[in-house]
Amino acid sequence: MARVQLEDVVKRYDDVTAVDNMNLDIRDGEFVVLVGPSGCGKSTTMETIAGLTKPTSGTVRIGDRDVTRLPPKDRGISMVFQNIALFPHMDVYDNISFGLRLRNYETAEIDERVERAASVVQMEGMLDRMPDEMSGGQRQRVAIARAIVREPEVFLMDEPLANLDAKLRVTMRTELQRLHKELDTTIIYVTHNQAEAMTMADRIAVLDTGELQQIDPPLVCYNEPANLFVAGFIGSPSMNFARGEVTENGYRSMNDNLSIEFDPMDVGVQPGQSVTLGVRPEDVYPVADAESADAPTPPISVTSDVLEPMGDEIFVYLLTDTEADVDLEDQNADYQLLMSVPPDSEIAEDERMEVVFDRSRLHLFDTDSGEAVTHGLATDGVDAGGRVEAEGDD
Ligand code: ADP
Repeated sequence: MARVQLEDVVKRYDDVTAVDNMNLDIRDGEFVVLVGPSGCGKSTTMETIAGLTKPTSGTVRIGDRDVTRLPPKDRGISMVFQNIALFPHMDVYDNISFGLRLRNYETAEIDERVERAASVVQMEGMLDRMPDEMSGGQRQRVAIARAIVREPEVFLMDEPLANLDAKLRVTMRTELQRLHKELDTTIIYVTHNQAEAMTMADRIAVLDTGELQQIDPPLVCYNEPANLFVAGFIGSPSMNFARGEVTENGYRSMNDNLSIEFDPMDVGVQPGQSVTLGVRPEDVYPVADAESADAPTPPISVTSDVLEPMGDEIFVYLLTDTEADVDLEDQNADYQLLMSVPPDSEIAEDERMEVVFDRSRLHLFDTDSGEAVTHGLATDGVDAGGRVEAEGDD
């Protein structure tokens, strides 16, 4: 087990800044998932921790040691990558023990360690199998056992489940969580899959264009995203956004079809300020179910467009009513709104209807900086004084 720290780490390739002034403090025994879109710098961050890449500037610490200049083998880490490269001509035992044999460990010690690692990944009894006699999931477990057997202080895993089919990926997620509990080792895990991040991490580090956007427990990233990027990236389907501005007594959307009343002073915004309202699909309700919302807004007129029954819920794509001439092909159109409703809801396509938002679950962002202004828009008598400040203590 070891703490891992990145201090002001920068990695530049010619004119690309792959990692931009990264500061991370990963606790002993913590499971941290680095998540973000392709090209955001996840792998480069990982390679910097592993020692496969030297940072342009900054310091990497593992445990109490400055390892910035140490080669990978002296860092006390083990890595598992997306491409499982088992030796095809070696059985499971030989694959797992390869590194130990290379380092001339005693046979008895190798036997003991291999057995322990194989049992952690539930591959005991299969030690004489050859790689081509195993499923993808089993091969991935052997790759993990090969990393465990070295008893590292830190595990680095870069998209280790990416090549597995969807069902197996879900099973392996549970296995990795169990593994983490059992080994109590620091795990740093890279994925572009936010569902993987949400389910496994103690904390998620969200990256965009080489910069750390937020590092927090999954539900904090979900409920209190630090900025528009995190709000849009975490959660599937994504949060709805509607650009607008602050008025004397609240918010009005750019297309004039949506206004929410609040006291700008309470929220710390100024009339005229460009803000973006955010609402998750599950916080939009048909007006008939308005009582399900903690603090419903006044009804908003919409027309249902497309329905997507998912089995456990229905996604309803809505178009907010407007007088304006709207180009609905524009993906960024602020007229589209996604609502998630229970599977037994009776909503037809092309139906005019009214919906409400749950005020206590609304988010407001400064449009220019992208930074969150508040999570939850209190009203007098509804949630007075509570859940207003972005940095609040709730
Ligand atoms: P991710 O893992 O999030 O997909 P990477 O860390 O692989 O992102 O890449 C971050 C950025 O750095 C990308 O723009 C990528 O093109 C660039 N990059 C990564 N490795 C190299 C390299 N060896 N040479 C030049 N550019 C690189």
